[in-house]
Amino acid sequence: MKAYRCRVCDNPLHFENSVCVSCGTNLGYSRAERAIVPVDEQGRYVDLAGLVWHVCRNLNLHGCTWLATLEGGQCFSCDLTRTRPNDDDGEGLAHYPEAERAKRHLVAELDALGLPVVGKDPATGGDPVNGLAFDLLSSVEEDVVIGHDDGVITIDLAESDAAYREKVRARLAEPYRTMLGHFRHEVGHYFEWQLVRGDELMARCRELFGDETEDYQEALDRHYAQGPPAGWEESHISTYATMHPFEDFAETWAHYLHICDTVETASDYGLTAVAPVTAFSSFRDVVTGVWVPLTVALNMINRSMGKDDLYPFVIAGPVLDKLDFVASLARR
Ligand SMILES: [Zn+2]
Ligand SMILES: [Zn+2]
Ligand SMILES: [Zn+2]
Repeated sequence: MKAYRCRVCDNPLHFENSVCVSCGTNLGYSRAERAIVPVDEQGRYVDLAGLVWHVCRNLNLHGCTWLATLEGGQCFSCDLTRTRPNDDDGEGLAHYPEAERAKRHLVAELDALGLPVVGKDPATGGDPVNGLAFDLLSSVEEDVVIGHDDGVITIDLAESDAAYREKVRARLAEPYRTMLGHFRHEVGHYFEWQLVRGDELMARCRELFGDETEDYQEALDRHYAQGPPAGWEESHISTYATMHPFEDFAETWAHYLHICDTVETASDYGLTAVAPVTAFSSFRDVVTGVWVPLTVALNMINRSMGKDDLYPFVIAGPVLDKLDFVASLARR
């Protein structure tokens, strides 16, 4: 994530700021400029081309600071949400802002990496077949399974609740579980569907991740009955990645996004002096030369504060090959 600054007073800003805490200027996020820009009393921003933008109508609903093209309209990120909690679902609505926040973070990163983000709704310029949409559902009201299906990503809003999420994390013995992580994993399924096309790419993908035609339900049942195979750390980034080739790809993709975003943050805040990851010809070099030493240091910093490791994963040789493949897809 970039280190943003206020254009009026140069104070550092967080991605979510709707007001500068230093000079009081109202702010909005311009997706077109990848910048936080000042807005006037009416929430308007005029860009260099003279185009007038308006702060998203969902500012008060879930803290959306993004700019929309129409007055009273919603922004690109909000347009991607197909289903949200009903107005009478208090618990769902309470959990909803964190999911939208994670989605904005995700979209900003996909934009930074130059990955195409297209919605599903033709009314907002989307593609009903190949586009992306989100169902943000509350498992308080119904059974919700987090997942991806033909461009529709379902998120369980109950996972916004830290105590609930921690309980699930502990039960599944996962070292890491976050709302942003869910978004990054699920969008990995979407991009595998979209980007791994043609015989050559599919063959290479199968070589690295395994045969994706393997029965998914059988793999799922086996995973939860027997757990991961012994020695899984030598070839997979997580135990869940061992479940099925699709999950291996999505887990690897999530780590690709973890790495790119965190390296950008570290670089923008002066913790590491590297060009953007997109400038490296080999993602392998980013991982071995930048990411590994950086995470060793960040893990030690966390330990100095008595916290768990920031990045509790080990990247084995075969995982490096998979990360390199995923990065090459993003670069195409
Ligand atoms: Zn300011
Ligand atoms: Zn919005
Ligand atoms: Zn998955």
